[in-house]
Amino acid sequence: MFEKVTENTYAHTKGETIGNVGVIASETGNFLIDTSMFPKVARKIRIEIERIKKGKVAGAILTHYHADHTWGAMVFKDKPLHAHEFVHKNMKRSLAESWSQDAIESYLAANPERKEMLEGLEIILPNSVFKTREYRLSEDETIMLIRVGGHTDGSTLIFYEEENVLFAGDDLFAGIYPWGGDQTASPYAWINALDAILELKPKYIVPGHGPVQDNLKEVEHLKSYLKNVVATAETLAMENTTKEKVIEEMDKIGFHSPKSEEFKQATLHRFYEVISEKLSTQKE
Ligand SMILES: [Zn+2]
Repeated sequence: MFEKVTENTYAHTKGETIGNVGVIASETGNFLIDTSMFPKVARKIRIEIERIKKGKVAGAILTHYHADHTWGAMVFKDKPLHAHEFVHKNMKRSLAESWSQDAIESYLAANPERKEMLEGLEIILPNSVFKTREYRLSEDETIMLIRVGGHTDGSTLIFYEEENVLFAGDDLFAGIYPWGGDQTASPYAWINALDAILELKPKYIVPGHGPVQDNLKEVEHLKSYLKNVVATAETLAMENTTKEKVIEEMDKIGFHSPKSEEFKQATLHRFYEVISEKLSTQKE
């Protein structure tokens, strides 16, 4: 199920996992990057990664808290689950809100085809939490975790220096309009996150959604789109244009097609909220 990216890195980007999944087969063992949405798929992943190299599973690393990247973690609960403290915070909040027992039951009632995939779901919180912007898994390990925010405030880049491979999580959607509707998303942090990727100059990028990239074009493309959206919204908002009109103008800026129109509108509304909040604090 995994495609080989470099000698010791692998990716699964075919959609079965919903959020892409990666593997770094390091000296210490095999690290899984994101756990897929479904326990049923995560069990298959575990069998697969136990076949890579010496078969030792060293743990899992989360790029951010969204369900399509974290709900398979229960299959790896006997191993360290690494994540930034904001990922932990957001998962804990979600457990009390959109991931409550009742919320999940109504989700399954609306999506009965996912019942089997989510059978026995148990949501596991990270048990190895880091608080700094940059975190190295261990002294002899060349895996860097860099919390940059953007798509969510806990969004973390995972960089395997040894082979120049970057796992971008959902700070990169390749070939499709990104989801930015999260209550912790920020277009400003997102632009900085993309700059951080450009600075690292990875040879390969495994995005959170879409195929593996062997160049930086999608990163540049998303960065220039976000800069354009921010500049348009800031200019209009400063001229006291109505929210509806600003969003209408943001909507006209060309980019990849979204999965659905609601998806794009939720993203633009969140971006507008962050931009107008920034402008109002500047005025004070
Ligand atoms: Zn996400």
